[in-house]
Amino acid sequence: MDIISKNQEDEKNKQWQESFGTYHNQCIEIFKKHGYKDPENSGTMPLEKTFHGDTYNLVRESHQAVCDTKQCQELFEYQDYKETGLSAMFYPILPIYTNPTKGELCALCIGIE
Ligand SMILES: [Zn+2]
Repeated sequence: MDIISKNQEDEKNKQWQESFGTYHNQCIEIFKKHGYKDPENSGTMPLEKTFHGDTYNLVRESHQAVCDTKQCQELFEYQDYKETGLSAMFYPILPIYTNPTKGELCALCIGIE
């Protein structure tokens, strides 16, 4: 790898690291606010949430689901690719809402505050 593409790679990694940091912090804030620990200890996290007219249910057990939005997919792929361990530690306990025909959305993307 030459110097220029190495620098671009570093820059891209830095940006991903920052976006992930922001996402992670926002998740932690929601966790704290709702006393959420993991899918089985969800505190006051709403069990149901309506999004664009569809009802989604909170997943109540440790899961393999990843939020469907483009940004969340990309963040996950980045973590997975970097093998930070977060794809195995952090993602399975994220609050995820599911709808049988629409798919999965994380608490942030579905608009939990
Ligand atoms: Zn999401």
